[in-house]
Amino acid sequence: MQSFSSSLGQMRSVWQAGPECQPFVVAGSGTSAMEMAVTNLVESGDRVVVANSGYFSDRMATMLRRRGADVVQVLAWPGEVPDLEQVSSALAEAPTKALFATHVDTSTGVRVDAEALCAVAREHGALSVFDGVCATGAERFDMGAWGADCYLTASQKALGLPAGLALMVASPAALDARDALTSPPPMSLDWQEWRPIMKSYEALQPSYFSTPATTLIPALDVSLQEVLSEGIAARFDLHARVAGAFRAAWEVLGLSLLPVSSDIAANTLSALRYPDGVDSRLVLAIKERGVVVAGGLHPELKTRYFRVGHMGHVLTQPHQLERTLHAVADGLADCGYRADKLGALRAFRSRV
Ligand code: PMP
Repeated sequence: MQSFSSSLGQMRSVWQAGPECQPFVVAGSGTSAMEMAVTNLVESGDRVVVANSGYFSDRMATMLRRRGADVVQVLAWPGEVPDLEQVSSALAEAPTKALFATHVDTSTGVRVDAEALCAVAREHGALSVFDGVCATGAERFDMGAWGADCYLTASQKALGLPAGLALMVASPAALDARDALTSPPPMSLDWQEWRPIMKSYEALQPSYFSTPATTLIPALDVSLQEVLSEGIAARFDLHARVAGAFRAAWEVLGLSLLPVSSDIAANTLSALRYPDGVDSRLVLAIKERGVVVAGGLHPELKTRYFRVGHMGHVLTQPHQLERTLHAVADGLADCGYRADKLGALRAFRSRV
């Protein structure tokens, strides 16, 4: 109970959300967090705009369609972000309930400008909703100052817990939107059911709607404490610095980023194109050296790139980061590609 209460309070700090905003912690995955946001905010016939930056934005759009929404998408080429002007025009075309975006799309390693998207949504009277599964606690996000309405994540990414918790904070406007629905969300996801429970837990009062993932809550409490003891701004800076150091090292190794520019490259992962003559065997070669990286995910080019995660707790352990660099460089060599490992390590160390 104590750790549930303090987790909820700390979520407001990590999300930089005001006391009027409501955090929710329920058992589930990132996908269930997305579903909770979608079904509490949108119902059949609502018009919504999706600023689509990849695979997880596609998933969001599908969910919204299943809920019966009229979904207008602003698409981007893989590695690019949706054009802000086009998002603005799409919002201007007709009254729109909400704008949805993926803060960092894990399939492409692209980060959208969430602050600008919040502003454009507000300008057109739409709620703004962000999937932060690959970003929350690592990429700058200021819910209060930017006026975002819902920012969701899951426990297993930058917060560094085992999978199993769906987390989000909702603004008063988002909570009002739920109250105004004519068709309620599925019961297990309903903010109206969960809100009084979250309020009770925060006030250290026992309450019951559905059994929480109790074994994960103390871990959540510790993780949020760690983030806040580092300081949220310092934590964002650390992710930016380490990502910059990796980018410098990738350049020395001759690996190019899938994102078209480093301004829109995520700080939580690098999506890297295979160099000429190298293919997905690289992922296995790296694994043989004790480091796990992921293959491509974007359906249009998944055989042409791989992804290296660099988020959360591991960032405070430079030897682990260097181990990753060694494994990638040696894996490349195993695939017959000449890689300047020492140069990459030097570039990394000079920036981290
Ligand atoms: N959104 C993003 C941006 C993600 O990276 C993921 C998971 N990789 C999800 C949603 C879905 O999360 P889960 O796998 O926990 O359902």
